[in-house]
Amino acid sequence: MIRVAVYGAAGRMGAHVLEALERAADTTLSAAVDRADHPRQGQALSGGVQLSADVEAALDGSDVVIDFSLPDASLALLQSAQLRKVPLVTATTGFTPDQLAQIRSATRTLPIVMAPNFSLGVYALLELVSRAVQLLPDYEIEVLELHHSAKVDAPSGTALRIAEAAAAARARKLEDVAVYHREGNTGPRDPDAIGIQTLRAGSSAGEHTVFIAGQGERLELTHRAQSRDGFALGAVRAARWVVGKPAGLYGMRDVIES
Ligand code: NAD
Repeated sequence: MIRVAVYGAAGRMGAHVLEALERAADTTLSAAVDRADHPRQGQALSGGVQLSADVEAALDGSDVVIDFSLPDASLALLQSAQLRKVPLVTATTGFTPDQLAQIRSATRTLPIVMAPNFSLGVYALLELVSRAVQLLPDYEIEVLELHHSAKVDAPSGTALRIAEAAAAARARKLEDVAVYHREGNTGPRDPDAIGIQTLRAGSSAGEHTVFIAGQGERLELTHRAQSRDGFALGAVRAARWVVGKPAGLYGMRDVIES
């Protein structure tokens, strides 16, 4: 049995990860951690495991930790995971460039799987986008994402990753071609631009569409998460995979294809 701690366990995604761990035959929930002032502290969650704020105790009894929290909280977890040498699967999004640099630096001593989207369908979407952009080198690219109203970062980490994949397929850096906002007299579209547009409404678990448009036609590639289960299952799969791996930064490609 792989002993898995869940960080951000009382959150929307945390609940789905606990369910996925319970359903899997080879994993067990070893600890459920959330912030100290969470109203559910001390309550029994899946399998009678109590919600706790004691990260150190959680890591001591675990083979791996899955993190669905907030960027600052993830960085605090990172320090403890490094000290205790517990592999980390982080699904949190919205890191600043400085925070990303800290995570990269930690991968010199710790195996970490990080992905803005743990669903298998989004992994396939990324591969398809790269291929389509290579096949259609002169076409214009826009990424549109829709998420539930409670999401706190924008654009979604997944939209950014899709746009990065499209830019990389054209040997460009996203920061040189990204357009996040249009308003007023914008002038004609820069043909090299990659637009990234954000919608926030209702309860959607996440929808991403890539428009690849040329003269007289438009290709649209869409992924719709119909629930949060796909993210949870992918994160559990990554947790199972990363136990025993050498230090390094891994993504879903490593988890799925190696
Ligand atoms: P949420 O707000 O429902 O849950 C976050 C949880 O983290 C909350 O329970 C909160 O109390 C907890 N938390 C905050 N500070 C903490 C701390 N210091 N220590 C421990 N726990 C702390 O949000 P959510 O919808 O579950 O999403 C969480 C994160 O996961 C977001 O960044 C979201 O974008 C990301 N996400 C990633 C994927 C993916 O596949 N990579 C999928 C869905 C969501």
